[in-house]
Amino acid sequence: MSRPTGTVVVVGSLNVDQVVTVDRHPAPGETLVATSFALLPGGKGANQAVAAARRGAPTVMVGSVGRDGAAQVATSLLAGSGVDVTHVRAVDAPTGLATVTVDRTGENTIVVVPGANASTGAEAVLAAADTVASAAVVVLQGEVPADGIGAAATAATGRVLLNLAPVVPVGREAVLAADPLVVNEHEAALVLRQLVPDAVVPTDESSLVGALRSLGIRSVVVTLGARGALVSDGDDTAVVAVPSPRVVAVDSSGAGDAFVGALAAGLAAGDTLLDAARQAVRVGAFAVQGVGTQPSYPTLDDVLPRVE
Ligand code: ADP
Repeated sequence: MSRPTGTVVVVGSLNVDQVVTVDRHPAPGETLVATSFALLPGGKGANQAVAAARRGAPTVMVGSVGRDGAAQVATSLLAGSGVDVTHVRAVDAPTGLATVTVDRTGENTIVVVPGANASTGAEAVLAAADTVASAAVVVLQGEVPADGIGAAATAATGRVLLNLAPVVPVGREAVLAADPLVVNEHEAALVLRQLVPDAVVPTDESSLVGALRSLGIRSVVVTLGARGALVSDGDDTAVVAVPSPRVVAVDSSGAGDAFVGALAAGLAAGDTLLDAARQAVRVGAFAVQGVGTQPSYPTLDDVLPRVE
């Protein structure tokens, strides 16, 4: 299956993921013996680029790695997945690192060391401004400096998909440039508080989406793990629930990135936000069935789980 599609440009982080599996997470001060260990390519930006490319979108990655052996691991699946890495620069800082610990239920904890990703600021983004401007969809996340996110949002002429994870202070203009803003339920509350410090955060998730829309954000997608996602866009402020297929989760790390990459690929191909989200929940559900982030992302040849 192939259809004409615009380009996805991902401006973001590349990391090496040190993935450790344990029976249960250690308590503070406790030492546990791991059941396995792997070094895998990761970083929210790179994950999303791989996910978008595997779903058929022509995809360009803009980011930074170190001049070290870890850079090879960090970029190892990008080119192989069809991502253009011309704008991944080598800088004088260590390649970003994430220590991911996964327990037997698939729950994870993550500590991130930004390293070279701290170099993906406004200057680096402006060096790739033509590429950013040519994108049908520019994908941004919170793992590079806020001025880099702001510069990319300004340079974009296509749609800006802002996945504000983690929630960093990017400034109101960047959030208002988002179409859509994609966050999980915890991040959604933090974004609302960032924009309106004295806001009373609704406990009901649909009302939370509505509160974000009422600030002028053009479209909002809130992901809800196994429950799928909420979508709101257009003039209508209605919030539509998009359920996720039921699957047995092995490792939930990178599910949000799989979702974002697939959502971007759908939007670049001209899908509506709702149709793109219906496909993205299936891609997210596929990804939680495999260990790691990028290696668990589906290509167009994979059979995605269905919502019953
Ligand atoms: P994040 O990792 O950013 O918090 P989520 O956990 O909300 O993101 O996951 C993103 C998407 O991946 C969800 O919207 C859903 O489609 C899918 N997903 C995540 N966890 C599961 C699960 N246990 N079962 C089925 N789908 C899941």
